[in-house]
Amino acid sequence: MYDFLEQSTRLMHQAAEVAELDPAVVELLSAPGRVVSFRIPLKMDDGSCRIFDAYRVRYNDALGPSRDGTRISADLDVEECKALALIMSVKHAAGLIPAGGGKGGITCNPRELSKLEFERLCRAYIRYLRPSGPDYDVLGADIGTDLQSMAWMLDEYEQISGRHAPAAINDKPPIIGGTLGGYEATGRGVFDVFREAADETGFEINGTRVVVQGFGQVGSVAAQMFAEAGCRVIAISDSRGGVYCEEGLDVAALLEHKQQSGRVADFPGTTPLTNTELLETECDVLVPAALQGVITEENAPNIRTQLLVEAANGPTTLEADALLMERGITIVPDVLANAGSVHLCQMERTQGLSDDYWDLETINRLRRKRLVGGYRAAVNTAARYNLASARLGAWINALKRIEEAIKTRGWC
Ligand code: NAD
Repeated sequence: MYDFLEQSTRLMHQAAEVAELDPAVVELLSAPGRVVSFRIPLKMDDGSCRIFDAYRVRYNDALGPSRDGTRISADLDVEECKALALIMSVKHAAGLIPAGGGKGGITCNPRELSKLEFERLCRAYIRYLRPSGPDYDVLGADIGTDLQSMAWMLDEYEQISGRHAPAAINDKPPIIGGTLGGYEATGRGVFDVFREAADETGFEINGTRVVVQGFGQVGSVAAQMFAEAGCRVIAISDSRGGVYCEEGLDVAALLEHKQQSGRVADFPGTTPLTNTELLETECDVLVPAALQGVITEENAPNIRTQLLVEAANGPTTLEADALLMERGITIVPDVLANAGSVHLCQMERTQGLSDDYWDLETINRLRRKRLVGGYRAAVNTAARYNLASARLGAWINALKRIEEAIKTRGWC
């Protein structure tokens, strides 16, 4: 069974050892700084009451206010929030963003609730958590939450605090202080970082065969970017299976098919394949954009790609990571590849604090520049330490920044 927190903490220790971090700092970073667990009683439409478990983890705030997602899913637990909050701390620090890592959410299957029940749940999350605002902990969207959920959360926060505070909640609609380009940021960013890695390794983009697992917010946008750049996207899947086409899928038409039928399967002119088969399909670029822990010791020997671009958080176990590197597969790690949204959230916060809102061109340009900067810095660090892995390079850069902030503050 994949243990996300154990894997993330082990990776932190590996990077800390190479970077020779102060043992006291390592001890501090071995567990989250603050964990809040609470219960939300929710009045259902039929007058009954259901109780939901909820959490908020703030991993480390030495670099700035903790920040990021609110996940609402049936199998969420506090351990998953801790792992994701650690990863968010690293993603922010590796991207030179002055923020700590946060993650929280509610154990609940949103599909079991009516729209009104779901709105009441989102609002109740804010009332019971009572976040302290933009200078302390900034909540954003994640699996199970979207622009509308975050709009309700911001409204609840503003009603309670009695003032407008657009920078208190991220991933909200532009009409109430959100940023343009938020929905596409991660998928577009995956392509930005891929292009940089491709340039670096002399990889020809035109005609490159790409396989994408997951066709949601990240996977669908990334697949469109690959296709628009001249790549052949030969296989795509969602939770209900995948489709394959050697000549390359029409990604825009597949998106329409998915919107109409609710799945990618049965797209005309394609061969069906399972998610296991999809991951093992021969290709040039493999983009896992669905779940954590899908590339493991068991299937790593069967992965046939040159480049693995991790759009999902934690798709590759550490054991698989080592096996893939041994086989010479280049890995663009999650904390670099899917950091588009954290750069957008930083821009959303700056715009919200200043009430000065930017055009999409400015936002796209800054996102690209900052993502590429983080990637280059990680590659350079990996080279300096003689490491094959940009993953360790990124974690070392992040941990060193966090350590410097901790030391400067006089905590350790
Ligand atoms: P999403 O819910 O929009 O889409 C997820 C996709 O994965 C869906 O197509 C779903 O059908 C598919 N999926 C679910 N279970 C699957 C399975 N067992 N096998 C194959 N496909 C399966 O989510 P998203 O926002 O696109 O996020 C995808 C991943 O990217 C997650 O790991 C998330 O943490 C990570 N991520 C997302 C963002 C963001 O901005 N949305 C940012 C950083 C990281």
